[in-house]
Amino acid sequence: MIFLWWIWCFPQMLLGLFVKIVTKAQKQDDHYHYRYRRGSVSLGEYVFLCPSHQGDPITLRHEMGHRTQSRMLGWLYLPIIGLPSFIWCECFKGYRKKHKISYYSFYTERWADRIGKIERE
Ligand SMILES: [Zn+2]
Repeated sequence: MIFLWWIWCFPQMLLGLFVKIVTKAQKQDDHYHYRYRRGSVSLGEYVFLCPSHQGDPITLRHEMGHRTQSRMLGWLYLPIIGLPSFIWCECFKGYRKKHKISYYSFYTERWADRIGKIERE
């Protein structure tokens, strides 16, 4: 099966493999733990949890939601989900704080939450 995901999800799989190697991520069941502190990320079949999220089932379900998005969207995952959510994460911290908007209100995140059946306040 993994071979098919490599074809269907090639760009994010390549990026995921790169992240796995560079961060020396450790496999944990169906996902990875890495020591990078700036957040968890899902790249194709590679789901990485940062130290503060390791052992957190909600975050794991959320990231698995992104993995499902990757499986649905294939090569379109990075332009539709990956890039917008990266920009939302990195460039809109001040905006979210100022307007008291949840990180999880952005469409990429709301959708991942919905897939993971996560209810947030
Ligand atoms: Zn997310």
